[in-house]
Amino acid sequence: MFVGVDVGGTKVLAVELNGRGEDLAVARAAQLPMPGRTAAAGEVEEAVAQAVLEVAAERPLTCVGVSAAGLVDRAGEQVRFAAHLPWRDAPVRLRLEERIGAPVLLDNDANCAARAELVAGALRGVDSAVLITVGTGIGGAVVLDGRVVRGANGMAGEFGHVQVVPDGLECECGLRGCWEQYCSGRALERVTRVTLGSHLDGPEVAALARDGHPAAREVFATIGTWLGVGIAGLVSAYDPEVVVVGGGVSAVGDLLLEPARRGLLDALQATAHRDVPRIVPTRFGPEAGAVGAALHAGA
Ligand SMILES: [Zn+2]
Repeated sequence: MFVGVDVGGTKVLAVELNGRGEDLAVARAAQLPMPGRTAAAGEVEEAVAQAVLEVAAERPLTCVGVSAAGLVDRAGEQVRFAAHLPWRDAPVRLRLEERIGAPVLLDNDANCAARAELVAGALRGVDSAVLITVGTGIGGAVVLDGRVVRGANGMAGEFGHVQVVPDGLECECGLRGCWEQYCSGRALERVTRVTLGSHLDGPEVAALARDGHPAAREVFATIGTWLGVGIAGLVSAYDPEVVVVGGGVSAVGDLLLEPARRGLLDALQATAHRDVPRIVPTRFGPEAGAVGAALHAGA
């Protein structure tokens, strides 16, 4: 049995897949809260193992794919750095293999999400694409000629820490003005405090926005516009056919994506003289990383 597990800033999600191609679906899933950035690495690894064992339900595991929200080295052995997790140059693949008792394959979460969308989702048959995950922070992946671009260190596509505002807001990574300070789950909470004057969490603001609450919609318009501004830079760099947006914050759909489409048009050069890429949601949504990790394990 192949299991995929996504390790994000706020939760661990493990899935088992069923079917293939367009019929691919999540058969079982288990979700645990992430112990947090201040937790010991061992606590995070224990949460991963627990989620995997819950999905496995005492059946033997063939291989486990792990999708991590951080910089994974090209060999897939270490998480070198993760702004929202305690891993620093940590041999995560081996540690998890020992804890879980089955072979483990490790990759970056956005790369995993891109793999899921290429195999069975929004990127089937697409040659050039950019994938953005808007979760606790921002993750990204680049697809050129139908393949995920890895970069010299396996770290290509870390768009969340591209500076969009000089001397802007302080980021968990230690820099200032990073894109994810303006467009992410963390940014959503900050903009909510400013706009609504309340400490609602992401899903609560999303529920209000879906019900038509004007200020809650304004929060997603602000975040979405920043999403479009960042995407404009990526379109200039990579000329993608499609931009796929996933991650927990994107669960509100067009409430986020429509402002992003407008933000892209406003911030992109020569829009009258080019095909502006479509901005579309992921097929697998918040499960894309875990699904791609399971596909990695099963490949
Ligand atoms: Zn940063």
